[in-house]
Amino acid sequence: MSNLRFREDAYAQQCGAVITHVDERGIQLDATVFYPTGGGQPGDVGLLRAAAGDIPIANTIKGEAPDTVIHVPAPGARAPAVGEAVEAVIDWGRRHRLMRFHTALHLLCSIVPGAVTGGSIGEDKARLDFDVATDSLDRDGIASRLNALVAGAHPVTPRWISDDELAARPELVRTMSVKPPSGHGRVRLLDIEGVDLQPCGGTHVRNTAEIGTVVVTRIENKGRQNRRIIIGLAP
Ligand SMILES: [Zn+2]
Repeated sequence: MSNLRFREDAYAQQCGAVITHVDERGIQLDATVFYPTGGGQPGDVGLLRAAAGDIPIANTIKGEAPDTVIHVPAPGARAPAVGEAVEAVIDWGRRHRLMRFHTALHLLCSIVPGAVTGGSIGEDKARLDFDVATDSLDRDGIASRLNALVAGAHPVTPRWISDDELAARPELVRTMSVKPPSGHGRVRLLDIEGVDLQPCGGTHVRNTAEIGTVVVTRIENKGRQNRRIIIGLAP
């Protein structure tokens, strides 16, 4: 699997593909727009359109080999065949919300000091956990700084740097629990102009303005050195 469209174009909603492999885990294609679960972002759902009948996809996961994407069919879906031509189509409404949340978490990361120890993104909320001792995290202050960055309309761009370049700049790696895509001597970076630059393999909106109004729902103490910040999107 070399043709991972979501890496270069997070807005690609569908692509033509051929089924290259089928096993008990699911279906592999020669190209895909489906993002596999990783980096706190859930895998895409959607559908493989085909002449012999559509195959609904309930989840997308990574295989063992690098850059392998497995499309998990919904229960009861018809059997796919290797060599079948399909149109791979993601549930775009869901994915776009995940992209808005994912980009918002980068903004949150730029505001709160301390290493990120975990995180997750859902359709209705997202969270980051920080290794920070202070009890003084101010919910309203964080919310207003987040929304100032949203209003600042900062361009968001993925780009690649060499492994050596990244090794020389360890400050770029804020997230200890997430390994970005690497290998072949390069690592994917997500650049929010003037705000945040860090390795990330996920999908993001093009501009922070597209996130819309962010709400800080809750700040929880998860132990002495761990603060969990949960955010939502205003309706
Ligand atoms: Zn990201």
